[in-house]
Amino acid sequence: THNTSELRREDSRHHLHPFTDTKELNEKGCRIITKADGIYIYDADGHKILDAMAGLWCVNIGYGRQELVDAAAGQMQELPYYNNFFKTAHPPAIKLAKKLTELAPDHINHVFFTGSGSESNDTVVRMVRRYWQLQGKPEKTVIIGRQNGYHGSTVAGASLGGMAPMHQQGGPMLPDIEHIAQPYWFGEGREMDPQEFGLLAASSLEKKIQQLGVERVAAFIAEPVQGAGGVIIPPASYWPEIQRICDQHGILLIADEVICGFGRLGRWFGSQHFDIKPDLMPIAKGLSSGYLPIGGVLVGDRVADLLIDEGGEFYHGFTYSGHPSCAAVALRNIELLEQERVLEHVRDIAAPYFARRWAELASHPLVGEARSLGLLGALELVADKVTLSRFEPGIGGLCRDICFETGIVMRSVGETMVVSPPLVITEEEIDQLISLARASLDATARRLGI
Ligand code: PLP
Repeated sequence: THNTSELRREDSRHHLHPFTDTKELNEKGCRIITKADGIYIYDADGHKILDAMAGLWCVNIGYGRQELVDAAAGQMQELPYYNNFFKTAHPPAIKLAKKLTELAPDHINHVFFTGSGSESNDTVVRMVRRYWQLQGKPEKTVIIGRQNGYHGSTVAGASLGGMAPMHQQGGPMLPDIEHIAQPYWFGEGREMDPQEFGLLAASSLEKKIQQLGVERVAAFIAEPVQGAGGVIIPPASYWPEIQRICDQHGILLIADEVICGFGRLGRWFGSQHFDIKPDLMPIAKGLSSGYLPIGGVLVGDRVADLLIDEGGEFYHGFTYSGHPSCAAVALRNIELLEQERVLEHVRDIAAPYFARRWAELASHPLVGEARSLGLLGALELVADKVTLSRFEPGIGGLCRDICFETGIVMRSVGETMVVSPPLVITEEEIDQLISLARASLDATARRLGI
């Protein structure tokens, strides 16, 4: 049992929360989450809350899996920690590397392990620049990302990402990183046909390359579906054109699979859904279903072969690269996803059913668009359903708070509400998710006097 009010007090005294206005938080105190099971989390005040965010887009297998507890405990007893620096390795890291490269597209046969998605993207920056040095083109240093992209909170991650407040706070960001438009049809292209808009958004990559000079451009990085930026699902025309531009100019393509990987779109990797061929794929989150922290970069042959054959020692690595306990949990997590045919469940049952039910929310007075792909969903909140004019900033945050009170976790990204439920969600649980989302929208409308 917990002394909830004391915990809350100590939290406000000592704990700086990520991505949180501490002063605002301390006015009411935090909600204390004490346990979880399946797709539900429970707080210390006895509330049961449907976690439609799977934590932070990561608890793909759902909460409460004893198999993952056993995998962690077994490995911790045998070899809790050892590194892979001293010409050493251990079974969990080796087996996980083999497994991941089997799941990845054919041209990807290597993995570099990290402790998180942010570290994976830092690794990407150093690896990309190393690749071009080894190619004899050290002037190719510029990496192009997208506005509103999210690639983590380390300096490199924040720089690659396109979140304005992250750039403003604690800048300057890393040099030699540029950003292009995002394929955000509802927000930025509604007057156009979506497919034409997709091509237009992709063409901003070509324009940027021309403007910089291809001799300076090293790589393009993007999430298959931009997650933290608001579940930006690109029109079908977008990714093939991006792939064409990268191929034509010979620049590396990096697909950040931290959210889209491990079944979120019904395939092992989001890039398989869009049929693209990335040279590098940062991964994390769903790799271990969030049970322990682990990430990595899947490295295609084009980069790996050169690094191995010509690179000598790569001066890069983390104490926890390939951490055995985390790797054992990741491996077991992947086995469970396979044995329980979770990706098939997403593809054949959950995603089609979710798409149908989620689309029904488009009729709500506050909703201007309801879109989804795989088990990612977004609702665009609008003040006026006809003109689709937006609310003043802050209504998304209000709706998120009301969701919690109603018994569902949805995240707000500005005035966009997003969900990313555990992949094991059943049709009945999807019905619950939709009812709770609708009830939260109704309560938000009432609070606004609509
Ligand atoms: N890349 C993407 C696409 C993400 O969504 C995130 C986290 O939300 C990251 C990278 C950073 O991962 P981490 O928080 O594990 O450092």
